[in-house]
Amino acid sequence: MNISPQTPSTGFTTPLNDVVAGGARPLVLVVEDEAALATMLRYNLEKQGYRVEEAADGQEALLRVAEAKPDLVLLDWMLPTLSGIEVCRQLRRRPATRELPIIMVTARTEDQDAVRGLNTGADDYITKPFNMEALLARVRALLRRTSPVTNKGTVNFHDLVMDLSAHRVQRNGRAVHLGPTEFRLLEFFIQHPRRVFSREELLDAVWGADIHVEPRTVDVHIRRLRKSINGPGEIDIVRTVRAAGYALDTDPI
Ligand code: CA
Repeated sequence: MNISPQTPSTGFTTPLNDVVAGGARPLVLVVEDEAALATMLRYNLEKQGYRVEEAADGQEALLRVAEAKPDLVLLDWMLPTLSGIEVCRQLRRRPATRELPIIMVTARTEDQDAVRGLNTGADDYITKPFNMEALLARVRALLRRTSPVTNKGTVNFHDLVMDLSAHRVQRNGRAVHLGPTEFRLLEFFIQHPRRVFSREELLDAVWGADIHVEPRTVDVHIRRLRKSINGPGEIDIVRTVRAAGYALDTDPI
């Protein structure tokens, strides 16, 4: 007798096809203390085919992550017990969650705060009230840039080695730890060495053209990339070209 695995016919298209090739459905942890919003997020994420876990405060978020590491965290900024910023900081300090994709959800409209959120290690942020389609697009885009790739091999630039399959970076034999966005940025640069890219070009290439991100978000991630790859005594291999953009280059300006 032929027993075929059950194929649920859900009716909706499969937006995850470009995110996970045959893998398990990505797990999204929704950290949100407003129950109604959490429910709405769960509903929409599940409709897109994601698995969803919830946490209603900062402490619970850390607990959930320790129990089952999600593929992405949607992290509210204003939370009881521990703020979203603090949760983000703690996750970034731990080796196991250093590269966990995090989207910060903030009710604050000041760009200053959003940039502060990015500086604590979030990969992206979205401001409340947000459009659900826009949020889902950011989730998809972030998972796309963090999903593991296979058989892409190793690339070199100067004293830097990038293992694209294993997601490992070394400079001068020293392990370099990069967040998912910095990894993609470096991957893009290393594939086009010495070419200058504008912020807009980098946004299109690394974040995706369908995503609206402030151009200065690029600056935040470039800063983080520099901080991670340039060790003491090493030359800065990320070149800032005034009014033009950035390049991976060993030549000084
Ligand atoms: Ca809140």
